[in-house]
Amino acid sequence: MNKFIATVTISMLAATAATAQVTEEMIASDQTMTNQIVSNGMGRDLQRYSPLDMITKDNVKNLVPAWAFSLGGEKQRGQETQPLIYDGVMYVTGSYSRLYAIDVMTGEELWQYDARLPEGILPCCDVVNRGAAIYGDKIYFGTLDARIVALDLKTGDVVWRDQIADYKAGYSYTAAPLIVDGLVITGNSGGEFGIVGEVQARDAETGDLVWTRPVIEGHMGTLNGEESTMTGTLNATWPGDMWKTGGGATWLGGSYDADTDTLVFGAGNPAPWNSHLRNAGTPVEGNAGDNLYAASRIGIDPKTGDIKWHFQTTPREGWDYDGVNEVVAYTDRQGNKRFGTADRNGYFYVLNREDGAFVSAKPFVKDITWASGIDDTGRPIFNEENRPGDPSAATDGTKGEVVFSSPSFLGGKNWMPMAFSQKTGNFYVPSNEWGMDIWNEPITYKKGAAYLGSGFTIKPNYEDHIGSLKAIDPDTGEWVWEYKNDAPLWGGVMTTAGGLVFFGTPEGKFLALDDETGETVWSFQTGSGIVGQPVTWDQDGEQYVSVISGWGGAVPLWGGEVAKKVSYLNQGGMVWTFRLPKELAALQ
Ligand code: CA
Repeated sequence: MNKFIATVTISMLAATAATAQVTEEMIASDQTMTNQIVSNGMGRDLQRYSPLDMITKDNVKNLVPAWAFSLGGEKQRGQETQPLIYDGVMYVTGSYSRLYAIDVMTGEELWQYDARLPEGILPCCDVVNRGAAIYGDKIYFGTLDARIVALDLKTGDVVWRDQIADYKAGYSYTAAPLIVDGLVITGNSGGEFGIVGEVQARDAETGDLVWTRPVIEGHMGTLNGEESTMTGTLNATWPGDMWKTGGGATWLGGSYDADTDTLVFGAGNPAPWNSHLRNAGTPVEGNAGDNLYAASRIGIDPKTGDIKWHFQTTPREGWDYDGVNEVVAYTDRQGNKRFGTADRNGYFYVLNREDGAFVSAKPFVKDITWASGIDDTGRPIFNEENRPGDPSAATDGTKGEVVFSSPSFLGGKNWMPMAFSQKTGNFYVPSNEWGMDIWNEPITYKKGAAYLGSGFTIKPNYEDHIGSLKAIDPDTGEWVWEYKNDAPLWGGVMTTAGGLVFFGTPEGKFLALDDETGETVWSFQTGSGIVGQPVTWDQDGEQYVSVISGWGGAVPLWGGEVAKKVSYLNQGGMVWTFRLPKELAALQ
C-alpha cells in the first residue's frame, strides 16, 4: 500500500516536472512564442522585437500598471536586468547578485536567492546584473565574485555552482548566460584589471566544464580538460609578454546564430588603456600592434570553442572602446543575412553572418574625433593626432599629451541593447553624445589593481542633451529620427509589431515612441532612473509590458560636467508591470 502511494507520488512529480522543462526548441523559437521570454534579447537573434500587436500607437495610452515589485533591502544601485517569463513566473536578477521569482499575475514573491558575496569583490562599474537564462528545470545566473550558479526553477535551491575565475584578480560577472544545445556559456568581466577575456562552456545539467576559449592571442583553449588550440599566433600582434594580462573582457556575454551554428562574443579593451605600451613597432606595419582579439567580435564553434572568424572594430585600441556590443542577427531589405552592431567607438557596423566579413560602417553619433571614417576593408582611418600622447615622450615621463576625444570612454553606445524592428527594417539605437579629455600615464601590472595607465574627464558635447535614441536604417546608415534626452541613456530598447519603441530614461520615464516618427505616444514616471531592459508578452488574451527601474550603472560613478546631469537622481529597485485590459484595447 505504501509502495503504491509512493509510486503514484513519484509519477505525479514526474508529470509536474515534465511541464516545467524549457527545451532547446523553446529557446530557439523564443521570439515567436509570445507567452514566454526564456532568453536574453527576447529571442536568439537579440532583436528585442515582439510580434505582438495588441498594444498599438492608438491604444497605448490606455496601458495601466498591473503590479509593482520592490527588490527591497538597502541594496539599491543600478538595476540593468531583463526579466524572464515562464510558466506563470517572472524571474528577475537584481543588484548585488540577487535573483527573484515573482508570480506574474499578482506580483507576489515566490522565492529569492541572495548570493553571499565575499569581501573584496572588484566590480569596475557598479554592482549590476543583466539577467538570467532558463533551461530544463533550472535557472542560471552569474555573480559578482565571478561564479555561475544553477538554481531549481521552482524552489530557488542551488543545484550546482562553479567558479568562472578568481575575483581577487579583478574578475567578476554581470552578463546574462547563454544556453545552446545543453551548454551554459559565459564570458567574464574585469577589463580594467588586466584580466584575460574568456568564453567558457559548461554542461547545463552538471556544471562540468566542457571547453574554454581565452580571446587574447597566445593563450591556450581547453576541450574536455585537455589543451585544445592556441588563440591566434603568439606575439603576432602583441609585443613581449603584454598578452599575458591583455584584457579583452567578454563582459557583455554573447549570442548564438543558429543559421551558421556560431557563437558570437565581443571582447573589450586591450589592457592597459595606454596603447603605447602595446605597440609592436613604430610605425605599425601589417597588423603588428593590433592587439588581437581585443576590441573585436569573435565567431566561435559552440562544440569545440575554436575561433571561426573575427572582426576587430578598433585595432590598437586606446580610448577604452570595448568591442563587446551585442551583435543582432537580421535580414536586410535585399534578403541578405546580416549582423548589425553599434560599437563603443561610434560606428554602426554591418557584417556578413557567414564569416563576420565587413559589409559597411556608418557613424551613429555626431562628433567622432579619433577616426575620419572606416575604409572598405573595415579598418578605421585613424586620426593619429587624436591618440592620447605617449608619456615616455613627455619631458618628465609622467603624463603624455592630453587630447579631447569623442565619443567618451563610455562610448557612443555602452552595454544597453538596441532593438531591430522586423516591421520597419530599422534599428533603434540608444546612444550618447559625449567626449572626454584623455591622457596616458606609465603603469605596470599588479594583481587585483586597476591597470589603465590613463586618466580622463568626461564632458557633454551639447548643452541640451547627452542621450540620443536614433532610428537607423542599416542599409544606408541614415538616421530616420532622433529622440534627445538630457541625461545619458543607459537602458535597453524594445520594439513591437504594434509600431512602438519602448525604453526608459535616467530621469525615470518609461516611454513608448512611434517607430516611424519618434513621437512620444505614452510615458510613465517610475520613480527612479531606468537602466533596465523592457520586455513584452501575452497572457489570457492581453499584452503585458514590464521594465525594472533603479538608477545606477557606470554613469553616476564618474564626475566631470556629466555629473551635473545625474547627481540629483534617486536610487530605487522596482519592477513595473503594465497591461492593456481587453476592455480598453478598442478605445482610441
Ligand atoms: Ca573597458
